[in-house]
Amino acid sequence: MPPTSDNPSPSANKLFRSHERSFEENRFVYPVLSRRSGGISIGVNLNPDKVCNFDCIYCQVNRVSRSETQFVETDRLIDELGHALDLVTSGQLFEDGKFAATPPALRRLNDIAFSGDGEPTTYRNFDELVQTCAQVKQRLAPPEVKMVLITNASMFHRPAVERGLAILDANQGEIWAKLEAGTDEYYHRVERTTIPFQRILDNITAAARVRPLVIQALFMRIEGQPPPPEELEAFCRRLNDITAAGGALSLIQLYTVARPPAESFVTPLADSELDALAELVRARTGLSTATFGSRQ
Ligand code: SF4
Repeated sequence: MPPTSDNPSPSANKLFRSHERSFEENRFVYPVLSRRSGGISIGVNLNPDKVCNFDCIYCQVNRVSRSETQFVETDRLIDELGHALDLVTSGQLFEDGKFAATPPALRRLNDIAFSGDGEPTTYRNFDELVQTCAQVKQRLAPPEVKMVLITNASMFHRPAVERGLAILDANQGEIWAKLEAGTDEYYHRVERTTIPFQRILDNITAAARVRPLVIQALFMRIEGQPPPPEELEAFCRRLNDITAAGGALSLIQLYTVARPPAESFVTPLADSELDALAELVRARTGLSTATFGSRQ
């Protein structure tokens, strides 16, 4: 069978699993082949210092090696973004190097994604940065290219972040907000943060009342144990709380660890466990789900 997007070659599979935040000499912008995006996603790293306000037990950011880059240099970031957009839209990206293994169906630019080595919305001038990136996108990318914010939702209440979300809305924006617990206790066990769970729930609810949100939820084994059934039921209740309060959730992405996590006691769920979880979420909430297993 020839390699396709559903049946990729071993080198394409390696590419899917490689979400290295380095590309050429770039400091802030890195293209990745993303199965979740169904194409190339150009990552924008607003946390080069690798500082995050969560300390998730499954975090896949390598904090052992210290970054040489501590601050965002806006001019350089914008140059790197323009160059990356040119490389993808011209097809040059796929001519050699690791992206030559990209299956033909995935040689498309799906999005610019604000993610990286920490929580992007903690960046002080988040709204200004998003606006500038939107202008670069308008100049250099097809109009349907999305702008995706991958976030833990902890800062949505800040005015600069609210303004940034509105700018995303006007530029094919999608917000992928992390919610992966149903109870306060499990939330603190997984995210290890001083930020209250209720703030995350309130922020997601408020943002989802303005535009539909995608929820991204990572579930895993902790010390060999899958999430307790009562936790998963509580997770479904939190989703229902959001929609009952008028929030719109367009998709619940359920995934598991695919790269080495921060803590060795964290291991992935099996695909069958993720599928069962998706079935539970659909049955309890009526929401759409998508699953991404450990080999994706
Ligand atoms: S929010 Fe993201 S970057 Fe921050 S610790 Fe959790 S997984 Fe890592």
